[in-house]
Amino acid sequence: MIRIGHGYDVHRLTEERRLILGGVEIPYEKGLLGHSDADVLIHAVMDSMLGALALGDIGKLFPDSDIRYKNADSLELLKIVVEIIAENGFGVGNIDCTVICQSPKLAPHIEKMRKNISAATGCDISQISVKATTEEGLGFTGTGEGIVAHAVCILADKN
Ligand code: ZN
Repeated sequence: MIRIGHGYDVHRLTEERRLILGGVEIPYEKGLLGHSDADVLIHAVMDSMLGALALGDIGKLFPDSDIRYKNADSLELLKIVVEIIAENGFGVGNIDCTVICQSPKLAPHIEKMRKNISAATGCDISQISVKATTEEGLGFTGTGEGIVAHAVCILADKN
């Protein structure tokens, strides 16, 4: 049996925050605002995996009212989600992600993001796709107010 999941997340760009995407710290004048490290890409990935098994979302699993998740490393949270998926008898088939970001340019960092996600999920890098695009200056990603991430995944029954 296979299950498909979708994840979507948005975080606001603000000053005096580090920009962390796919577990990569990217040098930039702004970073993403959030309770954890605000890694919008990893959040979308986790929501896609939880969604595939109808297990809710990361807001339910890692509530931002919980001090344990303040400035949390989202890659560590992803490992917890992978464990939950495994406890339910599933493993990752593949994950495909799109990050929508006007600037900075993400191309130099994509391979490291794929590597980080494959390491955290126990997948081969060929199972992990990360793409980046812009919205041509339109909307809130275009004006640099925030960054969006989408993810879809297939989970496969391990039995
Ligand atoms: Zn988030």
